[in-house]
Amino acid sequence: MIKRRRTRQISIGRVKIGGSAPISVQSMTKTRTADVASTLAQIRSLEDAGCEIVRIALSDSDDAEAFKKIRKATDMPLVADIHFDYRLALKAVRYGVDGLRINPGNIGSSERVEEVVRAAKDADIPIRIGVNAGSLEKDILKRHGHTPWAMVESAMRRIEIFEGLDFRDIKVSLKASDVMSTVEAYRILSEKADYPLHIGITEAGTAFSGTVKSAAGLGILLSQGIGDTLRVSLTGTPEEEVRVGYAVLKALGIRKKGVNIISCPTCGRVKVDVVSLACEVERRLLHIDTPLDVAVMGCVVNGPGEAVQADVGLASGDGVGLIYRRGEVVKKVKEEDMVDELVAMVEDLVLSGYKKSEII
Ligand code: SF4
Repeated sequence: MIKRRRTRQISIGRVKIGGSAPISVQSMTKTRTADVASTLAQIRSLEDAGCEIVRIALSDSDDAEAFKKIRKATDMPLVADIHFDYRLALKAVRYGVDGLRINPGNIGSSERVEEVVRAAKDADIPIRIGVNAGSLEKDILKRHGHTPWAMVESAMRRIEIFEGLDFRDIKVSLKASDVMSTVEAYRILSEKADYPLHIGITEAGTAFSGTVKSAAGLGILLSQGIGDTLRVSLTGTPEEEVRVGYAVLKALGIRKKGVNIISCPTCGRVKVDVVSLACEVERRLLHIDTPLDVAVMGCVVNGPGEAVQADVGLASGDGVGLIYRRGEVVKKVKEEDMVDELVAMVEDLVLSGYKKSEII
């Protein structure tokens, strides 16, 4: 059992972050923000994928005006991501944003930062202090070089500015594309401050390498109880980011949501196309939110053993397979019917109201 480091709690719209709240999964829209229809369609698609908070980049006043329309059309918790132009942050607050992500280092003078903080305070919304290894203050870099300590000092400096304005509705992120630097920076910061942490490995790469890096980095942090909300950054679709985020949390037993596929790697004994079967079953069960174990196994060696322990399982043999439901064999099916039958069995189990355990 992982012991979570206890942090203060903040709220982004209806989602609580920190304290005893579940670790939330978020992503970011990748459409042009000014294209309201496409951005809204992506927000809805993200919601279907289980995304709990959506961040939107506001780069200019067209984006800000589009955000006004987007805000009116969805109740999804929305965070506006602002760089350089503090007036966009002020507009986003006026238009009903649930949280801001700013990098105080590029917002400009302290008066501007102060104005944004005051607006957030009046609207009772939090601000994420997003420190990025690529945009650290020169004096800090001179002292620490490009090290985790530099990121931490930058974050602490900004936290002190916010606290000096009597503003503590804060979460913090420390992003570097190097996994171990990121991990070390979060570890150090978690000992210095109790603000909730937004964790992730930034610019992690394509779906494959980004998934591996994110799983490694997030896995270390989460296993040490560090992290209150996460975003997986992939050069891929935002929906994929959400799926990977949940997969990491599921693998660590932190959140249970949706189907956990147990499938064998296949070997010389396999008699059916388990690779295609498992991928197809996984794809067709993405809409299931109920936590369930579904086994797709290739032969009689380990197949029945895994299938019997899963909520729904398939132990295949030579062109045929046995379908198990909660430990009992309920059907013998031909290879061409395996996917349909397995998916139907899972959907039927969910419809029956079966719950393995509550979503944590
Ligand atoms: S279940 Fe059978 S086919 Fe799959 S890896 Fe094990 S022995 Fe090989």
